[in-house]
Amino acid sequence: MDRFFSIIAGYIDQYAILPVLYRCGWMQWSDLSFDWALVCVYGLFAVLATYAICWPLEAAFPVERWPDKKAVAVDVLYTLLSRVGIIPVVSFLLFYQVQTAFSGALVDAGFIPPDLESLIPGLFGHPVVTFLIYALILDGADYWRHRLSHRFRAWYALHALHHAQRQMSFWSDDRNHILDDLISFAWFFVVGLAIGIPPLQFPLLILLLRFMESLSHANIKLSFGPAEYVLVSPRFHRRHHAMRAAGRRSCNYGAVFSVWDILFHTADFTNAYFPTGDARAPEAMASGGYVAQQLAGARLFLRALTQTRPRPQP
Ligand SMILES: [Zn+2]
Ligand SMILES: [Zn+2]
Repeated sequence: MDRFFSIIAGYIDQYAILPVLYRCGWMQWSDLSFDWALVCVYGLFAVLATYAICWPLEAAFPVERWPDKKAVAVDVLYTLLSRVGIIPVVSFLLFYQVQTAFSGALVDAGFIPPDLESLIPGLFGHPVVTFLIYALILDGADYWRHRLSHRFRAWYALHALHHAQRQMSFWSDDRNHILDDLISFAWFFVVGLAIGIPPLQFPLLILLLRFMESLSHANIKLSFGPAEYVLVSPRFHRRHHAMRAAGRRSCNYGAVFSVWDILFHTADFTNAYFPTGDARAPEAMASGGYVAQQLAGARLFLRALTQTRPRPQP
């Protein structure tokens, strides 16, 4: 599979990226152009695989049926921008470059950055177990990032864009304000440095976690039964997006594993499929186009930063 991706990335690099770099006089980037293409190919594969699995399920077992799906179309744009477009290229390469430079500087200073296998020697030779522990730790970090984004008014002003969607579908996972994406990136960057994720493992780990996150937003009547005590299902995450839970008094913050919500007493396993949205968010955030949503989020963010009065909670 990896070889297949590499061959496609090679073609894209050779026939699309390199000629552009050459024509524009940017050949200093040519060492990295194959990696750019590979990141885009991985992203595109992830989007297609998610679509192939989630679309039939949404058609067969929908929670809601919408005659007009205009609001879903914006979420498709968010997904393509953040998984195939410029964002993964920049974030992956930035992570890779800075992590390599940072680790190199630490080694030069006589300090070996930690990684899980050196902290727990028993993990040597068990890459799948190591992979799962990394996934669990990253998910725990994401639990706290998400929970804090509901706690601070200015941060929630950005995150409200994610919650404003009333037509929530498997496309909705990437529906985020660009400043919120930047905060997430910085958050994972620090965590990644702290636990020493091998750079090559990072994109695969993210792809798998991201699929589960897309599925959890899907407009599907689906719970995982007893497995819901470990994994976040569409029903579990829909409870987080419930219109009446928007804001500080939310629950079910976990992205992939529900264990963090259970551990920190924020899990709610109510067997119901609530309408989604945030009634307090500006309408432009719910039904506007991409630019209108981003501007509305930025305005709400600035207002929250400049006002001292706490936003009243429902
Ligand atoms: Zn949230
Ligand atoms: Zn969500």
